[in-house]
Amino acid sequence: MAKQERVYVALGSNMGDRAAHLAYARDRLASLPDSRVLRHSRIEETAPLGPVPQGPYLNQMVILETRLEPQVLLDHLHAIEAERGRERRVRWGPRTLDLDIVRYGDRVVRQPELTIPHPALPDRDFWLRELAELDAPPHAETARG
Ligand code: AMP
Repeated sequence: MAKQERVYVALGSNMGDRAAHLAYARDRLASLPDSRVLRHSRIEETAPLGPVPQGPYLNQMVILETRLEPQVLLDHLHAIEAERGRERRVRWGPRTLDLDIVRYGDRVVRQPELTIPHPALPDRDFWLRELAELDAPPHAETARG
């Protein structure tokens, strides 16, 4: 069986009941085989990126501890997106649920269907904020005094 790895998965939604889509994704991630959710960040509302006019997003990131290989995990993420009615019609367009693998342990993957770390990571301030929150020691805010 594959080695256990810590995977940072980004959740996003800007259609329908956005908070319900994120909650559904958290539950489904927690019930994936050989996996468990270790932590999740706060939910943050962000302005849409790209050229298509659309409503604001709710974003969140979770740390998933898993033994699923990256490509297998990606297939599960696509299945979860499909369960929330995700249609891939418009590039950069609105979506009920978008799930991205931001980091997968220290692994580097360069395949046509999968790039890890996610190439958009340096450009998405909210992902960087969420990573910092997830990597902070628990109760860091009280420790600062
Ligand atoms: P998007 O429309 O932004 O959800 O992009 C969808 C496609 O990006 C997927 O079908 C994946 O094959 C591809 N992709 C490449 N790298 C990643 C990654 N790190 N996480 C998720 N999807 C990825």
